[in-house]
This record gives sequence, C-alpha cells and structure tokens, in this order.
Amino acid sequence: MFDISNIKTFTVIGAGTMGREIAQVALMADFEKVILTDIEKDVMNRAEEYIINGLKRLEAKNKLGEGVSTEMILAKLVKETDLIKAVSNADFVIEAVPEIMKIKQEVFEKLGKFSPEHTILASNTSTMSITKIGERSGKPEKVIGMHFFIPIVVLRLIELIKGEKTSQETMGISYAVGMKLPALKGKRFIVQIEKESPGFIVNRLTIGGNMYLNCVVDEAFEKGIPWEDVDADAGDLTQWGPLVKFDFLGLDVIYHCQKYFEEALSSDFNPGKVITNLVKEGNLGSKTGKGFYEWTADGKPKIKKGKKAGLFDLETYMAVQLNEGCRLLEEGVVSGYKIIDDTMLAGMDMPGPFSAGKRNYEKWAELLEQLANKTGKEYFRPCTLMKSGGFIKMRK
Ligand code: NAD
Repeated sequence: MFDISNIKTFTVIGAGTMGREIAQVALMADFEKVILTDIEKDVMNRAEEYIINGLKRLEAKNKLGEGVSTEMILAKLVKETDLIKAVSNADFVIEAVPEIMKIKQEVFEKLGKFSPEHTILASNTSTMSITKIGERSGKPEKVIGMHFFIPIVVLRLIELIKGEKTSQETMGISYAVGMKLPALKGKRFIVQIEKESPGFIVNRLTIGGNMYLNCVVDEAFEKGIPWEDVDADAGDLTQWGPLVKFDFLGLDVIYHCQKYFEEALSSDFNPGKVITNLVKEGNLGSKTGKGFYEWTADGKPKIKKGKKAGLFDLETYMAVQLNEGCRLLEEGVVSGYKIIDDTMLAGMDMPGPFSAGKRNYEKWAELLEQLANKTGKEYFRPCTLMKSGGFIKMRK
C-alpha cells in the first residue's frame, strides 16, 4: 500500500518562473528535502533569492505556521546543477523546463534513466501531451501531468492529467502530494483529467482567448494604438489588463503554447506578428525587463493609465472561451460544464464562461461569426453545442 510519508525528496527541474514557485510550496510542505536544479547557475541563484523574499513576506504576516521561520524552511533547500545528482534519490520529480517538446522529451529520457524505479515523474506542461513527453522515459506508468497556476502559493488549482499509460497509483500519489502543497486561498482544488487533450481545461479556454488577443494586438499595432489603451478596454474587472498579464507570464510561453495549438488543433492558432517579433527580439516580458511594457528590476510594469481603444471586447473574449468549453464537452474530455467553471475560478481567479454563457449564447454565437468573418479564422466559428445551447443540459 502506498504511503505518502514515503515521499521524502522532492526535486524540481528548471528554476524559472514556475520552478521557483513550485519549489517554494514544496519547501512549505513537510518534505524532508527539496532539490532545485537548472542548467543556468544564475537562474538558480535568482530563484533562491525569490524564494527567500517570498517566505519572508509570509513570515511577516504569520503565514508560515506556528514557530516556523524562513530559516528553518530554507534548511531543506538544495541547489544542484547536476541533473543526475538532483534526481538519483528523488521520490517525486516535477519538470518545469521550457514548453518545447524536444527539450521535455530529452529531460524525461534522463529522468527515466537516472531516477529510482519508484520515482513519480511529473510535468508542469501548460498544453502538451503527457504521453508524448514521457514516451522515452522507460516508465510511462509513472509519468503524469501536474499543472500549476501562478502565483502557486496563492491559487488553489492543480490540474492532474493522465497520459495514455499513467497508472491509477501514480494519479493517487500525485493527488496526495498536490494536497500537501499549501495555497493561501484555501484547500487545494485538484481536478483529475482522465483524457488528455491540448491545454487540458484552463489553457484550452485561455489559449482560445489568447488567439483573439493576438488579433487585437496586431490590429492595434497597425492603427498605432498604445498597449495601455488595449488594456484599458478590459476595464476594472481585473487588476492587470491582458497585455500586462502576457508580459508577466512570459511572451515566449504564450508564443510556444500557441505554436503547439497550431500543430495540435488548428493552423488558426499561429501566433500574431507582434508577439512573434517581440519573442524574436528577446523581449519576453517581465523576466527580460521588456515586452509590451518595460518592467522595473523588482518586477513592476511601467504603465500609464490608458483610455479605451474599443478593440478588445470582453464579451467576445468570453464567447471564445464558451466555445472552447463546449468543444471540451463535445470531445468528452469532461462530462459537465460545472467542473470547467469551478476549475477556471480556482486557477484563474475569474469566473468561467458557462454561467453567463447560458443566458447569452445566442448573442455570443453571433459575435463569434462576426469575429471569424473579420479575421478570416474559421476556428472562431461557434461549435454545434454552443450554437444550439445544448450544453445547458450538461451541468454535471
Ligand atoms: P522559464 O523560461 O521561466 O523557466 C524554464 C527554466 O528551465 C529556465 O530557467 C531554463 O534555464 C531551465 N532549463 C532549460 N532546459 C533545462 C534542462 N535541460 N534542465 C534543467 N533546466 C533547464 O519557463 P516557465 O515559465 O517557468 O515555464 C516552465 C514550464 O511551466 C513550461 O512548460 C510552461 O509551459 C509551464 N507553465 C508556465 C506557466 C507560466 O505562467 N509561466 C504557467 C503554468 C505552466
């Protein structure tokens, strides 16, 4: 019988935007040792600093637990540049290297070779097939998708994704590991996805929305409209406009996700001109100090207040998300829409599209027809389940 207390050493591969936060929550859970590894020593040192600052902030607010200090937690952190050493005694490994299939497959081949037989190998991929990522690992039954949402220390959601050969035991252990990782918003919300498909739940909807945003951004560029004005279109609903969020998440991540969808779902997902150019120039957002906006060294966007451009329409954005959600129902990835709305709320801190979509689907289907006509992207057209409102009967 599996016992979660056997998971003592937790290794994180890649110490970038995601890896450092995964390491932080693992340190806050009661594993004996958390090993962080990256091919870049500098990245690893910066990640350590980021973790220390994050822990100190929590300590100052008494959120580390009774009698627990930053120093005590940090004693469990090991930085290791040698991947073989980092995994040779690991019980649970999570990979957070760039969203490029070739890199992930190479990493999983090494993980399979150099980690003990019992070790679970998880990937934090945002979009990709778990089956393909793990196909050279030699133990596909131990390979699983474990997708986190930033800020990981705050948001409750983890998507657990089964590959074709992932065992039920691997799902169970990973679920138990996920439940141990603290989240400031409350108990972890772990959605178990039994059928893999591009982007799982949250990113299937989000990347659909990003495809629309790419069209908006290219139009704004052609018309010479400042990015602040595009963000102002989103109104006060969110603290940050969508382009500030793009910069924060990393434009390379946005770009690679769309490239994957272009291959896996439809050529209409091809990244827009503006994003493609920013990525080619190495302007990747907050992590490089420049993307749509310039960023301060301590991670704040330098933005002026914009006036509405009238280009980005929140209802159209929700309509695109509703359409993707309906496609997930049509494909049998989920059997009811409630899980999609609950998952969106826990992972994005924003309501999912279905509750408003039930009242608005006819109008929204029309908005999508107009969007498809304007952009020439057929993928935007509403699917049958959305157009007919048939999804309304599929709550659970
Ligand atoms: P990142 O570019 O910030 O970090 C990736 C790190 O991996 C880099 O520091 C790089 O040096 C390191 N690396 C590259 N090859 C390596 C190797 N062979 N061994 C060890 N380290 C290696 O990327 P990120 O934003 O942290 O994304 C990592 C993964 O998490 C991607 O799959 C991404 O899609 C996913 N993800 C990202 C987000 C997000 O908001 N950025 C959210 C959820 C999931």
